[in-house]
Amino acid sequence: MNYSEDKGQAGEYLRLTLGYIAKYSQPASPVNYTIWYEYVSGKNQKLRKAIDASIESAIPLTDKNMETLYRKFVADGDRIVISKLLTKINLMLREITSHVLETEGDLSGHGTNLRGLSEQIRKVQDYEGIKHIVDQMILETKDLIKSGSRLQSRMKISSADLQQLYRELEKSQQEAQTDSLTGLINRRGLEKRFELERIRAKQNNLSFSIILLDIDHFKRVNDTYGHLVGDSLLRGISGILKTQLRRKDVAARYGGEEFLILLPETDLGGADAVAGKIQKALSTKEWKLKDSGQSMGTITVSMGISMYAMNEPGNNMIKRADDALYMAKNTGRNQIVTQASIQG
Ligand code: GH3
Ligand code: MG
Ligand code: MG
Repeated sequence: MNYSEDKGQAGEYLRLTLGYIAKYSQPASPVNYTIWYEYVSGKNQKLRKAIDASIESAIPLTDKNMETLYRKFVADGDRIVISKLLTKINLMLREITSHVLETEGDLSGHGTNLRGLSEQIRKVQDYEGIKHIVDQMILETKDLIKSGSRLQSRMKISSADLQQLYRELEKSQQEAQTDSLTGLINRRGLEKRFELERIRAKQNNLSFSIILLDIDHFKRVNDTYGHLVGDSLLRGISGILKTQLRRKDVAARYGGEEFLILLPETDLGGADAVAGKIQKALSTKEWKLKDSGQSMGTITVSMGISMYAMNEPGNNMIKRADDALYMAKNTGRNQIVTQASIQG
C-alpha cells in the first residue's frame, strides 16, 4: 500500500465514522469514534454483526450500550486501534513537516516543535496521549498560518480539508434529522428540540404545549389514488401546517401520517386556537390530482393537545396528547381534543 492510498483510505474511514456518529447523534468520544472506525473499516466482523443486530432490532445505541459493545468487542484490540491512530497522525505530521521544509528551507522555529511532537508520539500509550498530540498539532498549525510565512497557502489547504470534513459532518447531522419526504424534522430531530423546549419552559417558567395530529382515513387516499398521491398529500399538509405556525413553533413528522407540533410559550387555550386555525385552513382546501385535475375533496385531521407540567418527562406529555387524539378519533374525527377533556 503506498502513502497516498493509505491516507485516502484513512480519510474515507474517518468520514464514514463521523457520519455514523452524527447519524446516531452520539458524542464524538474516543469510544464511539473507535467503535465506528472499526465498524466501517470492516476489520472487526464480530463487532459489525453485533451493531447490525442492534440496529435491526431497534436497540438504541446509547452511551451505555456503546460502552458495552466496546468492552465486549474492542477493548482487547485497543492497542491496535491506538497504533492505527498513531500511524495516521504520523503521516499528517510528516506532511506538515515536509511543507515546512519545502517552503522555508529549514526546520527552525516551528520545525523544532514539530520534531518534538514526533518524539512524543513514540511514547504515547493511550487516548489521552493521542488527544494531547492532536491538540498540539492543531495549535502548531494555527501558529504556522498566523506566522504569515509562505506556508500560508499550503496550510490553508489542509485547514480547508478540515473545514470540508466539518461541513460534511454538519450536513449528515442535518440530514439525519430531516424527513426527506416532507422536509420537516423527523423523530430524531424532534427528540432534541422537544428536550430543549421542555428545559426552556422549565427554566423560564413558561407554558409549553404540543399538538399530536393524525390524518383522518388516510388509508382511503392510498387505496383510492395510490401511494404516490398519498405521499404528495403528506407534503401538501406539511406545507399547510407551516403556514399556520409561528417562527418559533416546530412541526415534525412523528410517524407515517402523524405529525407533532411543538408550541413554545403557549398554553392549552393558545394551542387549541392554533389547532383551530389548522382545521379551518384544511376545511377550505380542495385537493386535486395533479395530472387530471380531478377533485379529491377535502382532507380532515384529528388533533390531541397537551401542556407541559413542571418537571414531567416528555413521554408523559406525549401520552396525554395521544389519549386526547384517541378521543378525537373516537368522537367522529375532524375533532380537536385537549387534555382538559380527558382528565378527572
Ligand atoms: P384514522 O382516521 O383512524 O387515522 O384512519 P387511517 O386510515 O389514517 O388509519 P391509520 O392511521 O391507521 O393508517 C395510516 C395509513 O397511512 C397506513 C399507511 O399505509 C399510510 N402511510 C403511512 N406512511 C405513509 C407514507 O409515507 N406515504 C403514504 N402514501 N402513506 C403512508
Ligand atoms: Mg395514524
Ligand atoms: Mg390516520
